[in-house]
Formats: sequence, C-alpha cells, structure tokens
Amino acid sequence: MTCSHQTIIQKNIEQISQQIHEAELRYSREPHSVQLLAVSKTKPIEALQAAIDAGQRRFGENYVQEGVDKIQHFEQHYSQCKLEWHFIGPIQSNKTRLIAENFDWVHSVDREKIAQRLNDQRGERNQNGEKNPLQVLIQVNTSGETSKSGTNHDQVFALAELINALPNLTLRGLMSIPEHVPDYASQLAAFEKLAQLKTQLQARYPQVDTLSMGMSGDIQAAIEAGSTMVRIGTAIFGQRDYQNK
Ligand SMILES: *Cc1c(COP(=O)(O)O)cnc(C)c1O
Repeated sequence: MTCSHQTIIQKNIEQISQQIHEAELRYSREPHSVQLLAVSKTKPIEALQAAIDAGQRRFGENYVQEGVDKIQHFEQHYSQCKLEWHFIGPIQSNKTRLIAENFDWVHSVDREKIAQRLNDQRGERNQNGEKNPLQVLIQVNTSGETSKSGTNHDQVFALAELINALPNLTLRGLMSIPEHVPDYASQLAAFEKLAQLKTQLQARYPQVDTLSMGMSGDIQAAIEAGSTMVRIGTAIFGQRDYQNK
C-alpha cells in the first residue's frame, strides 16, 4: 500500500470540509454555519484517531455499547482533546441509561418515554460540578414511511414541550433521515419541509439552533435547505463492514 489509512481519512476530511465551505458560499450561508459530524459507527479506534489528528472533534455513533467503548477509550488515553459525542441511532428504552451517562448529544429522540428516561438518568452536573444537560434533537419522519423511525410532523410540538420542561435536557432542534432519492429537487423538497418546521420550533424555543440533515449522498441539498450539521460516514471512513453487527 502506498497510502496509509491515516492519510486517506485526513484527505477525505479536508475534501468534505472544502465541499461544505463551497456550499456555504454557493447558497449564501454564513461561513462555518454548517458543522461536520463524522459518523464512525463500525469503525475501529485507529480510524477515529486519524480523524482526530486531522482536527475532527465531533463524532456520531449508532450502537450504544460500541459508542460507549470509544468514548471511554478516548477519555482514558486522550483526555487532553475535548471530543463531542453524538448518539444518532435508534433508541431502545433499556439502553437510555448508557446514552444519558456517556453522550453529549442525542439526535434520535422520537417519543416521550425516551425523553423522560434520558432526563431521569442524566446526572444534573458533570465531574466539575457544572450543569450538564444532554443536548437533544427530535428525529422527524419526513418521508412518511412507517418502517423508519422518527416522530410525525404533528407530534413534534407536543414532544418539544415535554423536552423543554425537562431540566436535564436542552432542546436544540431537529434531525431527519429522508428516504433516499437520487434527484436533487426531491431531496431539497424534503429538507425544506424540515427547515420550515425548525423555524416554527425556533419561534417558540429560542435556544433551538440545530438542523441535523444531510449525509454522504445528499449534502448539497441539505446545505441549500439550511442544514447546520451534516452527518458523514462513508465519505470519510469508507464503506462499512456490518459483519459483527
Ligand atoms: C450511518 C449514518 C450516517 C452516515 O451515512 P453515510 O451515508 O455513511 O454518510 C448518517 N446518519 C445516520 C443517522 C446514520 O445512521
């Protein structure tokens, strides 16, 4: 091999950051208004380490135990580097404690029971005695498919009201995983629906500032529609191997 693992990941991060930057300019978005979440599910510690060396600090994980193992590894061996951990996968209620105790953000809250449990299991303060609420996004089902997780549009405000009343959660915005469609206009339409919903939510809850949408295949449309956080896995770390999942 002429090219090390590390070099490829660093190059990919540079390339995506450049794409994000160009899209911000093209669609008249503020510079640096779109953050890059590196989705590292199924990837080994070494791959995350390479991304950290390239300056990446935000990571998204889908599987609770795998994510917690990585968080604890980097806390033990790399505590000088402040990393931010986002849980983005489906949430089973028997896994909420590990999420509440370890992650900084959760993108996939889609029902009241989960919000309540995350709140109850989140410590009020961190090790330094500072208030430490979990940063929460409501996952919205924008495609109307029954198979996908996410709450329906008309239930978003009821769920937002509950989250807003819970002291150990901070409502920051919305997330969605739209049905995959290849044409740009349909991608854009789905993202714009979510962006409108976020504007309505923001009118009621001024701390709402985050729209988590856009993945490796639809990042441009997401940024045009107003995404503030794109979740990129494959384009940074390469194809995933699900053999052990
Ligand atoms: C896996 C995953 C991603 C990353 O997808 P890629 O196509 O690999 O960029 C983003 N968001 C969620 C919720 C995911 O599960």
